[in-house]
This record gives sequence, structure tokens and C-alpha cells, in this order.
Amino acid sequence: MSETMSVAVVGAGIFGLSLAVALREKGYIVTVFDRHPYDETQYDPVADENVQAASFRASYGTKLHYQRLALESREEWIAINKSSGDDLFVPSGMLRVQPSDVLGALEKETLANMERDGIRGTQFVKSLAEDRERATAEGWDAKLLEFPIPDSNDGRTYEAVLDSLGGFMRCSNACLYFYKLATSKGVKFIFGKEHGAVEYIVEEMVGGRKRAVGVKTRDGAVHKANVVAVAGGSFTTQLIPDLSTHLESSGGSLATFKIDKEDEELWDKYSPEKFPVITWKSTPRNKTGKDTGSVYVLPRTPDGLVKIGFRGIKFTNFQPAPEGVPFTQDGKWSIPMSPSDSSVIPEAAVDSIRQFVRIFLPDLDNVPFHSTKLCWYTDSLDNSFVIDHVPTHTDNSLFVCTGGSGHGAKFLPVLGKHAADILQNGDEATSFLRPFWRWRPDAPRRNGLEDGPHNPRNIGQCQVE
Ligand SMILES: Cc1cc2nc3c(=O)[nH]c(=O)nc-3n(C[C@H](O)[C@H](O)[C@H](O)COP(=O)(O)OP(=O)(O)OC[C@H]3O[C@@H](n4cnc5c(N)ncnc54)[C@H](O)[C@@H]3O)c2cc1C
Repeated sequence: MSETMSVAVVGAGIFGLSLAVALREKGYIVTVFDRHPYDETQYDPVADENVQAASFRASYGTKLHYQRLALESREEWIAINKSSGDDLFVPSGMLRVQPSDVLGALEKETLANMERDGIRGTQFVKSLAEDRERATAEGWDAKLLEFPIPDSNDGRTYEAVLDSLGGFMRCSNACLYFYKLATSKGVKFIFGKEHGAVEYIVEEMVGGRKRAVGVKTRDGAVHKANVVAVAGGSFTTQLIPDLSTHLESSGGSLATFKIDKEDEELWDKYSPEKFPVITWKSTPRNKTGKDTGSVYVLPRTPDGLVKIGFRGIKFTNFQPAPEGVPFTQDGKWSIPMSPSDSSVIPEAAVDSIRQFVRIFLPDLDNVPFHSTKLCWYTDSLDNSFVIDHVPTHTDNSLFVCTGGSGHGAKFLPVLGKHAADILQNGDEATSFLRPFWRWRPDAPRRNGLEDGPHNPRNIGQCQVE
């Protein structure tokens, strides 16, 4: 790769950082733009609540390519933990609690896949005596927690599977780590709401087709580059409206409790050493593996925050789309709400989280939330990422790296390597993810992207006729 190829990466979040490091390692000249002043905030979640903790799972049902990527990523996290001396990845385990006292169909399939891949030994099924024995021998038994099923008179408890590969990442610390790593490798960063905010992609016409030649930032500067790679998370459609066919923003609901360190019992009980990540499917996954109702909780942070997320309903925010957006529903598209409007979560989310707390965190029942927030997913038509050259632009000059669909954070250490392979080699890329991350205009309209503005999950304030 010649040193002369330059890439402007828009977005210094999980996808942008990972891509920037990998491109730099391949010899590209890389400049990353972000409107957040991450150089000042150091990705501190107090200064910027967009970055916090996210769960890690290796279980991906039938999607074996993501299972494989998760295992690849886990190895990298462990290596980074060792070399940095920091616990960016916390292997607390993850308890997948079933909707009832029996194993769900998808769970059985996940376990069968893991058996085939030789990693079944990392999973412990609560009701299986041999698994419990193994859990005891390996020190995991205390995390095979029993939760009584409400209103069952016969003392039944929820079936659960403990995934000893699971855990969570401290995302803000991990982003800071990758930002520093990128800087040390020579990636240039331009931050801030004037210098770092990209207003549009600068284009020129070549033989009747558009070519991306750089980005224009809010301060009026034009930054030339051979390739523009947009990794703008849920804002990406606003820079590349052609993505409106493929992606939609939706809000996941988060609530936190704060545990006082003085309360030694709770501090200890909800620590990562004692408490796993818990996910609960209040209803089973549907035939396509889609989550139709789930709540999860992460062990408390060093600051005492216990984070609970509800993804049973991903709330949309339909607003009038600007002219020229190729795919709209009744002239509207779903985009993220402003941070101030995102600080309240809808009642349906509060109810589900409260029900979850009553069953799984009874100590915190009736305790007021410390904070609530809608956090914006970038949902694709099939929950797979969209990482490819944009076909509307010639000479592979525009690249997109997004579509995290609520599960991208865990891949931070490895995602960029696969994405950079695709950026550099297109169809010749050797990454096993190439077929799954393609620009795919023919993908069926599903995963909720068919719902549109008239669906009750639209909480946008605009009037829908
Ligand atoms: C509620 C919720 C829970 C989640 N839980 C998990 C989990 O448990 N496990 C997991 O693995 N993943 C999880 N995820 C998914 C994960 O957080 C995302 O996949 C990941 O953050 C996506 O990274 P990104 O880089 O695409 O976007 P972001 O991290 O949002 O970064 C995009 C960046 O682009 C910048 N930007 C956008 N437009 C512009 C512009 N025009 N100019 C300059 N800068 C711009 C933004 O400022 C931002 O910094 C969750 C997501 C949500 C919403």
C-alpha cells in the first residue's frame, strides 16, 4: 500500500476508531473527524454519556460468522487487558435467562452449534447436573443464579445458561485506549463542533458519476482525501442519504441505579466478581432469531452504577426527510433525537425494566432510577453491519462502515481489520465477513424497518397524518 493513499474517516466511535487503526497499519494516511471533543473529554462517560459499558457475548444462535468474530475479538480483548494492565474487557460471565423453566429452541440451537465448534464446555445449563458439577469444579457455580418465576405456586425457577466466555467492555476506557493507539500509529484526529463536524462529503463528477474527494467541515475547511469512509453511527444516513434504504435509527432504553459504596452488601453482591451480565428474554426469540422482548443488566461499575437496558421495543423517531432522500416512509425517516430529548425513556420501557428489577434485582425494587436515556441504534435490514464501498460513487471513493444494530461494541479490537481488508480489496477481500457486510439493496425489508411512522413504536413528536 502506497503512503500516498489518504482516507478521511468520519466518526471516532467504535467503528471509526477500529477502522482508522487498521487502515493506518496498512499504510494509509488517515485523518479522523468527530464533532465530539473526545480529545478534551477523553471519552469520559460523565462528559459524554454516549459512551459507557456494553455487554459481550459469543453466543450468536445460527449466525456462526458473528460467533467466530466474537471469539476472535475476545482473544484480542484478553491480550489488550494483559498488555495495558487495564480491565477493558471484564470476563464476568453472562447468564442467559430463559422465558420459562425450560430451554428455548434458539438456545438449544446455540448450544448445539457450540458443541460442534468444540466450545460447549464454556456453557453451563442450570438444570443439567453434569453442567452444574463442571461449574462448581471451575468456580462458576455461584453465578448460576436462581430466580423464582413470579406467580408460580410450585417454586419453579427460570432456566438459564451461564456463558463463561461472556462479560462486558468498559467502552469509554476502550475507546480512549484505541484513540491513543491510533494517535501513536500516526492517525490524525480533528475534533470539535466547528473543526470536526462534517457538513457534507465533497464530490466531483467524473464521466457522469460522482466521486468523493473529501469532506467539508463546519468551520468551512475542505479536507481532501482519496477515500471518504463514513463511520457516523446513527447519523450516517444524514451524510449518505442512499443508506436510508438500508438503515434506520431507533432508540434503546437505558436506566441506571447508583449503589452507595457504604452499602457493603449491595456493593459486593452486584460486583463483576459476584454478579454476571444477565439477559432475560421475557418472550422467546422469533423464527428469524429476532429478539422480541429482552432486558439485560450489567454488574456495577467502579462508580457504583448498575445499568439496565430494554430492547423489547426499539423506539423510532420519524421526522420529515430532506428532499432527495431515496427511501422514506410517508416522506419521513427515523433519525436520532437530540441528547436533551433522549433523557427520558417511554413508559413501556420503564414498565419492562421495573418488572425485570422486581424479579432479578429485588434489592433495587422501588429505588428511583439514577438516570435514564435513549441510546440510538443503527439498525440494518438483517442486523448485520454495512461495511462496503458505496456503489453510487466511482473509483471506490466513498466507503461506509456502520450498521452496528445494537451489537457492534464487542468487536472494537477486530472489526477494523476486516473492514480495512474490504476497503482495500473490495471483492478480493479475504475476510469471511465480506458477504455479510455488503451493500445489499435487495435485502428484504424486515427487522422492524418495514414498520414506518404509523407503528406505535414511533415516538417522534412530528404530526403523522
Ligand atoms: C442501547 C444500546 C445498547 C448497546 N449494547 C451493546 C452491547 O451490549 N454489546 C455490543 O457489542 N454492542 C452494543 N451496542 C452497539 C454498539 O454500541 C454500537 O454498535 C457501536 O457503538 C456503534 O459504533 P459506531 O462507531 O457505529 O457509532 P458511534 O459510537 O455512535 O460513533 C459515531 C461517531 O460519529 C460521529 N459523527 C456522526 N456524524 C458526524 C458528522 N457529521 N461529523 C462528525 N462526526 C460525526 C459521532 O459524534 C460519533 O462519535 C449497543 C447500542 C445501543 C444503542
